[in-house]
Amino acid sequence: MSRQPRAARSRPLTRDARGPASWRCVHCHAEVDAAAPGTEHRNHCPHCLWSRHVDIEPGDRASDCLASMEPIAITVRKGGEWVLIHRCNGCGELHTNRTAGDDSPLLLLQIAIRPLAQPPFPLELLGRMLGSEPS
Ligand SMILES: [Zn+2]
Ligand SMILES: [Zn+2]
Repeated sequence: MSRQPRAARSRPLTRDARGPASWRCVHCHAEVDAAAPGTEHRNHCPHCLWSRHVDIEPGDRASDCLASMEPIAITVRKGGEWVLIHRCNGCGELHTNRTAGDDSPLLLLQIAIRPLAQPPFPLELLGRMLGSEPS
């Protein structure tokens, strides 16, 4: 275990900067504070929700991929916690990440309703399945 000198903080995006106080978003280039409400280590940008493939296990910074990860879906855990699903643009791996208290609510909602906005079947089928014929 080697400790990084404090100066490493001024070199964002270097993979040896373990546990920096902040990092720069790969997608919107915002400077992101590593401390996030409601989660132990922030792994995605609260402004655009994109992430970066730096972890193999959450928080280990052990991946060599380092490609950007797109937020593609939201799932719900027991108890109602929302979890983001990220897909890596480099290797295609899927990661699940807890949402943070300051993630953009509008963007989270946009991702959550995306499949409802584009149903793969006609919506009137749903009415028939529920026994209420559309008049
Ligand atoms: Zn961002
Ligand atoms: Zn990857």
